[in-house]
Amino acid sequence: MAYRAYVLADYHVHPDFSIDAVGNIDEHCRAALNKGLAEICFTTHYDNDPKIPAKVRTMRINGELHQLSDKTVKTYLDAVEKAHKKYFPRGLKVSAGIEVGWFPGCEKELTALFSKHAFDYKLVGLHDIGALSFCYHKQAEKCFSRYSPEEFADHYFSLIKDAVDSDLFDSVAHLDVYRRYGQGYYGEPILNIYRGRIEPIFEAMNKSGMGFEINTSAFRHGLDQFYPTMDIVNLARKMGVRVAAIGSDAHRPDDVGGDLDAAAPVAHELFPYCDE
Ligand SMILES: [Zn+2]
Ligand SMILES: [Zn+2]
Repeated sequence: MAYRAYVLADYHVHPDFSIDAVGNIDEHCRAALNKGLAEICFTTHYDNDPKIPAKVRTMRINGELHQLSDKTVKTYLDAVEKAHKKYFPRGLKVSAGIEVGWFPGCEKELTALFSKHAFDYKLVGLHDIGALSFCYHKQAEKCFSRYSPEEFADHYFSLIKDAVDSDLFDSVAHLDVYRRYGQGYYGEPILNIYRGRIEPIFEAMNKSGMGFEINTSAFRHGLDQFYPTMDIVNLARKMGVRVAAIGSDAHRPDDVGGDLDAAAPVAHELFPYCDE
């Protein structure tokens, strides 16, 4: 491992509590230590579309699916705390975050959730529009086929605005994650759909102090810029919106810490000793 004059924290990691992830908390912590990280913040998925029956909204515990509930959330938080106690003396801070998938009408359940449980980091991401996930290869094309790039952008950014206005979160995940499959479907015009739509979101974030993440998974997805693109990062910076954290969005131990070295200079406000 090359010497770094700054320490890196991965603030977006899915252990196997997330149904689309493999590798338990322990395995992810060991991977973080091996990569020389100082901190790992787990952000398991919490998708609470009120239109979907509660029994199919699940979290995985020790290989078995359990309905999302206070009990499952508590089990997750206890497991993270246990890992922190084990790994902190070895030089790794282990934090308990959550990645909430935003759905219309989810505020009430989230307000209750956050009043009952203390999370170190509350991340919100938008993955679904109109009951289809544009982040899931089996549904993305169907989702996009319903909209022109402009219509898609109107839906996407209006839902992100709702999430920001809820004032429930610390940070917005992968602000332009629609590029993952949207760049192939719509082509280059998708790169510019944020223009004129993201500014009111940044104004609201600025007021509430909410930040956004630099998410390195875009490189794993074959794209040539992080989520979000440098154009969006620069606009945010110009408008005074802060980078809250950098994260790999790992869904398996091998991906923990991926490309964080490259993301650190982009988020230089988090790394005072990092050369730009
Ligand atoms: Zn996400
Ligand atoms: Zn994620």
